[in-house]
Amino acid sequence: MTANSALPFSSPENLWSDAHAAALDPAALLLYRSNLLGSDLTVTNFGGGNTSAKMREGDPLTGEPVDVLYVKGSGGDLGSMKLDGFSTLYLDKLLQLQRLYHGVEHEDEMVGWLPHCTFNLNPRAASIDTPLHMLLPFAHIDHVHPDAIIALAASSNGESATNAIYGDSVGWFGWRRPGFELGMRLKEYVESRPKLRGVMLAGHGIICWGDTSKQCYDNTIDLIARSAAYLNQRLAKAPAFGGKVVDPKAPQERGRIAASLMPRLRGMMVGDAPKIGYFTDDAETLEFVGSRDFAALAAMGTSCPDHFLRTKIAPLALDPARSDDDEYLRAAVDEYRQHYARYYARCAGPDDPAMRDANPVVVLLPGVGRCAFAADRTTARLAGEFYGNAINVMRESSGVSTYRGLPEQEAFDIEYWLLEEAKLQRMPKPKTLAGKVAAITGAAGGIGLATARRLLDEGACVVLCDIDREALKTAEQELHARYGTDVAAGVWADVADENALRNAAQKAKEEFGIAFSSRRRRAKRRAMGILNAKSKEQRVALYRDLLKVTKDTMAQASQVVEQLRTVKLGEVSQALLAEHGA
Ligand SMILES: [Zn+2]
Repeated sequence: MTANSALPFSSPENLWSDAHAAALDPAALLLYRSNLLGSDLTVTNFGGGNTSAKMREGDPLTGEPVDVLYVKGSGGDLGSMKLDGFSTLYLDKLLQLQRLYHGVEHEDEMVGWLPHCTFNLNPRAASIDTPLHMLLPFAHIDHVHPDAIIALAASSNGESATNAIYGDSVGWFGWRRPGFELGMRLKEYVESRPKLRGVMLAGHGIICWGDTSKQCYDNTIDLIARSAAYLNQRLAKAPAFGGKVVDPKAPQERGRIAASLMPRLRGMMVGDAPKIGYFTDDAETLEFVGSRDFAALAAMGTSCPDHFLRTKIAPLALDPARSDDDEYLRAAVDEYRQHYARYYARCAGPDDPAMRDANPVVVLLPGVGRCAFAADRTTARLAGEFYGNAINVMRESSGVSTYRGLPEQEAFDIEYWLLEEAKLQRMPKPKTLAGKVAAITGAAGGIGLATARRLLDEGACVVLCDIDREALKTAEQELHARYGTDVAAGVWADVADENALRNAAQKAKEEFGIAFSSRRRRAKRRAMGILNAKSKEQRVALYRDLLKVTKDTMAQASQVVEQLRTVKLGEVSQALLAEHGA
């Protein structure tokens, strides 16, 4: 790669182990293949894609062997799923559904029939991609949306590029949203082309297959790797997105701007629930936001439905020089919300679900990076990552020819599709403290750590502050293992040191997009009083006073916890406990 060429594209590696696979039964092999595919970000990102296998099993009532379709069920993630993540359905009953199909206007009704085909009372709901897997006559099928594939699928001459890469072994099928109609048409398509080993689904992803789990896995990895190699060869010849026009700022400055911007934006995103931010300044994002074609491409919107369901069609682009100008930011957020409302008004029909949250999800700043906002931090990180995928796709597509977004109405129909709405309704309700962030001092042990666990159980994010570096690291690792790495961040801080506290606050802003209000600062001063108190008795009395002061805000648990952020919880609580002889 020369300094002027685009960033190269990651290629998947074949990680199949025959030794491991030898001991597995067919269902376990399907799970093994799914976990391998799902844990490789060059194959699929979180929650994306699905896999299936058709196998013979004994009917629970008669003991007779029957054909059963195992297909990844609705929700869940290929990389981390267990066997109970697959729905299991009688294949012969599924195939009989074709007789009940009355055409594309009625295809959504077909989803209602799927539960009637359940094998062995498996409660896992079948996904909207089930028709693809059941109707195609292959024993093992993978359907994934890797960046290297969508780049072809979303490119204006993707069909000829597909042909150049795979010859006639991979087909090309025009855009059609997932569902029964796509399954039926695809079945006809592959039946007339017996040499195919996969089909490119325009604007979407790929579906490919094999006679065994191993063959299917090998095929999927090989198809993606070949596309990545082809794209990299072309991308090496020219800079991405028309070349660089804005240099990335120094890393520290990028962090400073993000920390200043995110709490402001968070406060401006009015809606049902508070949001958490996630900031990234990875090389792909900086290349994109600093490029000549950035504004035009960003406005065009993401193409793959899997992406824009998470990111919204278009991001909000901001001028980094005005990242602390509240008037400018408020106008930009308002304009975005109005723009979204106009899009909804243009496209919605009488039967569509009500308009969802109109706030931007992804915010981009040339020279700085990207922020993503969502009701919880993992969702914010994933939305950002999905936009990262969209950037990859745009880069690759531009390398092949021209990037193409989906037509607006098609995009809307997917975004507000009733079946997608049903999927959203099935998601677990947010926990009581979702969207809140608490900073806890003395957080590496005792009651401080117990408080962190309690808050995490309720859906809050926590910034852990402690003076004991080793203990802090251990506590952070424990919480990451139990709750995931998104929701807890450790910062070394001596709470008697204003500078250290300022760093901790900066970290909270940068990590989660949270600022502390003046009321919180008042509480902090009281808390500082506790720390500076001469005696244990005085400290305990001041702590009681602090609790009294914050009593009226107890309903807003997060605020209280943030107010407590400078209190050495462990020490004070131990004192209180000792006082009561506990
Ligand atoms: Zn798909």
